[in-house]
Amino acid sequence: MEHDHCGVGEDRRWQAVVTNDVSADGDFFYGVRTTGIYCRPSCRSRTPRQKNVVFFTERAAAEAAGFRACKRCRPDRPLDMRRTDARVVRACRWIAARQEMPQLREIAAEVGLNSFYFQRLFKRETGLTPMQYANVQRQARLRVHLSAGEGVTESALAAGYGSGEHLHAQADAALGMTPSAYRDGAPGSVIRFALGECTLGCVLVAGSERGICAISLGDTPEELLAELERRFDRAQLVGDDTQFAAHVARVVGFVTDPRQGLGDLPLDIRGTVFQQRVWQALRRIPVGTTASYAQIAADIGLPRAVRAVAGACAANKLALAIPCHRVVRSDASLSGYRWGIERKRVLIDAESAVTPDID
Ligand SMILES: [Zn+2]
Repeated sequence: MEHDHCGVGEDRRWQAVVTNDVSADGDFFYGVRTTGIYCRPSCRSRTPRQKNVVFFTERAAAEAAGFRACKRCRPDRPLDMRRTDARVVRACRWIAARQEMPQLREIAAEVGLNSFYFQRLFKRETGLTPMQYANVQRQARLRVHLSAGEGVTESALAAGYGSGEHLHAQADAALGMTPSAYRDGAPGSVIRFALGECTLGCVLVAGSERGICAISLGDTPEELLAELERRFDRAQLVGDDTQFAAHVARVVGFVTDPRQGLGDLPLDIRGTVFQQRVWQALRRIPVGTTASYAQIAADIGLPRAVRAVAGACAANKLALAIPCHRVVRSDASLSGYRWGIERKRVLIDAESAVTPDID
């Protein structure tokens, strides 16, 4: 029988809670005094304050102490239901390692499940169907081939798009522009933008035909425009657009009152597959709450990728719409923000006045 000495075991348990460590599931449970709920270490609910946490080796002990089972991580259910996570992660890795588009039944067979059950499980865990996920991977391969200077047709074929007349249409849809425009740094494409002011300073919102491709915050309009020009150096920039003035108003409204949300602003999200996964996870952080880089890493099934997650947050081009301001260090202190740490502080404060949804 193992005993904890001098709180060392307690420290290790706390680490497991902070990092949502799946491998610690079954070793212990933790209760949160302020909510009266107990969880497994891997639970993705908001990390509690350490001082409010009580550890239990047995589930029965947690319940005897008056804690109720969390509805999210279901510590009252058998542990083998948690293996679902590992199977989905394995499937993601398998899909990502392939050069061609797999069939649903192939992926399911790879992890030993039938297609129907696997699809449901995958969707529940990732928010995407396996085929949507495979398609995101294929889009990323297409970008890699085009950026390496390969021809449009050979890039599309190499990325796993089927041959035939649909090839170019599919590639266009995947990129939001024709592949040759993408490869050439999008000359001739039109980027519309508008500028506004809010309590955080100047706001710039810009969009392609696909949707919003930049939301940035700064001290002066000149600074924001210069950045936009650098990023889309061969595109035609068109200002004073009424549609974008409306989007700016929406962003300004969000800063004033985060409860308004950003509605269904269409977003043109451009990044690597990994960045897109991180950004999707960020969009799942409810208004009024924060998450740590470690939690986001665990959320996308890559608990060791904490530094890479921080990198993806820093690469975010869509302030507020992809709420990287809700990511803080594991000790809840503020880390860097692309648009200035003071703005991050103001945003978190404004949002914390909003009651979060309780899981
Ligand atoms: Zn839980």
